[in-house]
Amino acid sequence: MIPAMSFKGKRVALFGLGGSGIATALALKAGGAGVLAWDDNPESVAKAAEAGIDTADLRGADWAGFASFILSPGVPLTHPKPHWSVELARGAGVEVIGDVELFARERRARAPSAPFIAITGTNGKSTTTALAAHILQSAGRDTQMGGNIGRAVMTLDPPENSRHYVVECSSYQIDLAPSVDPTAGVLLNLTPDHLDRHGTMQHYATIKERLVAGSDTAIIGVDDIYCQQIADRLERAGKEVVRISKRLPLTDGYFADGTDLMEAVHGRYERIGFLEGIGSLRGQHNAQNALAAVVACLKVGLELGEIQSGLESFPGLAHRMEQVARKDNVLFVNDSKATNADAAAPALSSFPRIYWIAGGLAKEGGIEPLRSFFPRIAKAYLIGEAAPAFSATLGETVPYEISGTLAAAVEHAAAEAAQDESGEAVVLLSPACASFDQFKNFEIRGEAFRQAVNAIPGVKPIGGAG
Ligand code: ADP
Repeated sequence: MIPAMSFKGKRVALFGLGGSGIATALALKAGGAGVLAWDDNPESVAKAAEAGIDTADLRGADWAGFASFILSPGVPLTHPKPHWSVELARGAGVEVIGDVELFARERRARAPSAPFIAITGTNGKSTTTALAAHILQSAGRDTQMGGNIGRAVMTLDPPENSRHYVVECSSYQIDLAPSVDPTAGVLLNLTPDHLDRHGTMQHYATIKERLVAGSDTAIIGVDDIYCQQIADRLERAGKEVVRISKRLPLTDGYFADGTDLMEAVHGRYERIGFLEGIGSLRGQHNAQNALAAVVACLKVGLELGEIQSGLESFPGLAHRMEQVARKDNVLFVNDSKATNADAAAPALSSFPRIYWIAGGLAKEGGIEPLRSFFPRIAKAYLIGEAAPAFSATLGETVPYEISGTLAAAVEHAAAEAAQDESGEAVVLLSPACASFDQFKNFEIRGEAFRQAVNAIPGVKPIGGAG
């Protein structure tokens, strides 16, 4: 845990007592702050009280006595409208911040040269965060990974100058971290998302920009127009900007040429690494993630050789194009995280011959946006509520069956893929749907896929992600 010493002797209010809220309250207490915490959910309040945190409804609190208000990133700061606790803090002139801000302040106070990589973007945050942390760790660096990826930042080990931090930041966390100042800040990409919470695309982009604007080096994926504009603006303002692209040969920066990772200096190119043969980093989208992780690791002092061996041993993250098992010519891939058509596109574009398990609770637009991948689909196995709608889109172009359940889909797809005569076939769970009609969440759906696959006689599990 990182005791939040910068609040020693001060009183702070905190709202939002999920896992990271409780961890943050305990870090503040350990640093010597007086914390008063609350949540709209009585169960969360009870849990916090059990953990020894003082709780009281903040509507009745004396806000003039608080030095800061710590808000959980899940609670609306601006859209659709500020939460009542935010209104109270603003009315009393109390700053509103989150746990990433606390972390940034502690690092500055205790170990300002502790290498700090912060990663944001619409897609690929977790993969890039896990990859950068894996590369650092396999190069023998003392590495701490946390943030939006699942471990609250204040539960990490305290900053020391030789300790490396890799922190995934959602836009909500950045919005609550006004002074965040990473050594290397990564902005992967920007596409419209979460606009219910951010209002407009412009507002969403402005928040994401803040992370790279505060960095010593801003590493920016320039494959979309929003990020291009941010890179140009920061460069004009005198910031060190490193551009990365998964598809364009840049004049200066780093780009992917197929599976080769290239560095460009004034139009001269040099190969600095490669992804050929690395199953966990297949696909153009992963070239973007890998370039970002590679450049961030270079910026905190790693050598190219160390970085390449980290890339090669990366196990990948569970449920994201995760290679689960193999049987003869058939590879089984779990992409349960693909809960909409956009997220399913990278997996469908990564394999030439697919036995595709799709369906669940459909999102707007269905699988229409995936039409260009239909020629790769040998057969579709449809499950859940979306099956009738998906079958209508597949129509006569793609063979399909309505399997109903995931278990039946796996069994049928495995049997038919085994008969495929075109070489390697892939049984791919990439549902393009939410899971809630049949599963509690995408993780449980992915585990159900893994179990069904591993129950097939003769199948060989591929170790790695977890
Ligand atoms: P995030 O943490 O931003 O949600 P993940 O790394 O968990 O991203 O990846 C989630 C899904 O998003 C992946 O299964 C893949 O389909 C897609 N994805 C990953 N990286 C990228 C990228 N750089 N660009 C576009 N899509 C991506």
